[in-house]
Amino acid sequence: MKIGIDIDDTVMSFFPVFTQFCNKKLGKSLSPLDFASDFFKPLGKEKTILFLERYIQEEHSPSQLVFEDFKEIFPQLNKKEFSFITSRVNANEKQREETLKFFKDTFESFKSEIYYTSDKGVKKYEFCVENKFDLMVEDNLGVARDCVNNGIKVILLDKPWNQGVLPEGIYRVKDWNEAMEVIEKIENEN
Ligand SMILES: [Mg+2]
Repeated sequence: MKIGIDIDDTVMSFFPVFTQFCNKKLGKSLSPLDFASDFFKPLGKEKTILFLERYIQEEHSPSQLVFEDFKEIFPQLNKKEFSFITSRVNANEKQREETLKFFKDTFESFKSEIYYTSDKGVKKYEFCVENKFDLMVEDNLGVARDCVNNGIKVILLDKPWNQGVLPEGIYRVKDWNEAMEVIEKIENEN
């Protein structure tokens, strides 16, 4: 079974810390839900990208942002066939190298690929279909719906921004321990 895993807010915190960063710099009181529902809407595209760059330079510390439960289950996950699939915008070569280095340094025997769908100008579900992924682990409800509508099962990590009724084929989980249980259940069904 081929598993795709989103990075931001699935493996490491992003919306809450980025929101806090913007609020501090701009004296605003935005909520992570504002960015999660439409990333460029609260600040506009240009300003968002500018703040994203500043955030990465000044505040971004992946080792502090990665979820503890993901670290715990990683050895189990690493026995499976999985890749990271991110729609991160504006990730330059240096940032990508740092991201890869971070994963290699943090996780023993890390061997996964990291795919950036923005390079290919495709949506995440299109990338998954084209590359025959069976399952996606996500926090974004729109991506989850697109995937399931195209025959890809989804494990959705429960977040304030992805609430609502889920169609069949999307499994809401509270953490990575529960996600691993569902991954194994789906594997056994196939
Ligand atoms: Mg995400």
